Amino acid sequence: MIQISALPAFTDNYIWLLQDHRSHRCAVVDPGDAAPVLAWLEQHPQWTLSDILVTHHHHDHVGGVEQLKSVCGAMVYGPANEHIPARDIALNDNDRINVLGWDFDVFAVPGHTLGHIAFYHHGQLFCGDTLFAAGCGRLFEGTPEQMYTSLERLAALPADTLVYCTHEYTQSNLRFAQAVEPTNADIAERLKNVSQLRANAKMTLPSTLALEKLTNPFLRTAETSVKEKADERNGRNNQSGSDVFASLRSWKDTF
Ligand code: ZN
Ligand code: FE
Repeated sequence: MIQISALPAFTDNYIWLLQDHRSHRCAVVDPGDAAPVLAWLEQHPQWTLSDILVTHHHHDHVGGVEQLKSVCGAMVYGPANEHIPARDIALNDNDRINVLGWDFDVFAVPGHTLGHIAFYHHGQLFCGDTLFAAGCGRLFEGTPEQMYTSLERLAALPADTLVYCTHEYTQSNLRFAQAVEPTNADIAERLKNVSQLRANAKMTLPSTLALEKLTNPFLRTAETSVKEKADERNGRNNQSGSDVFASLRSWKDTF
């Protein structure tokens, strides 16, 4: 049994903490800052940090890796195609690793960055800055087509998959989702729930793929109303799902 919880970092990052209660070993995903992890380990002295999983090279995801590795001797897993400090195991698409006794499949999900990877274990997805709750990452390095393909791949996982992304962006993402689909009742209801959670300083994650498919505009490019809204926004007839995605993504960049 592995327990998953979040260590908040910076203003809106979550460092996911995975605890194996049999071995008292734990792992973290995307430790952008070592301090919250070291503080947790200090408060839980019976636990050993044995593994660090990294999705991509941005500083808010790797900033704590070197320090954590030097203090704890943890094994560092990260994408082969990016510079990841102190990386031990370089991962490529469709690799499989075993961490805390769990097998994780590695998916290449280019778009936010070119080497971005996601980790999947039976109904749990750690997707960094690729798929967000009600949104998706900005296209810093990849093309809209790459990100669209990456999101489609993640969306094809089982509907009850829990989505552990890195940022607490859900509320602002839902405001955009509502601009795209003003009459979508699922979006309205989710925005209400999420606003209540945020008003109480509570986390809105993890999400599920089922909920994302109902409320995340970037997974809803096949909906006629979403396509029509994207057409209206950039004054062209978007032909493919990837075109609709590109229009939505560039609209969101300035929303
Ligand atoms: Zn990033
Ligand atoms: Fe990030």
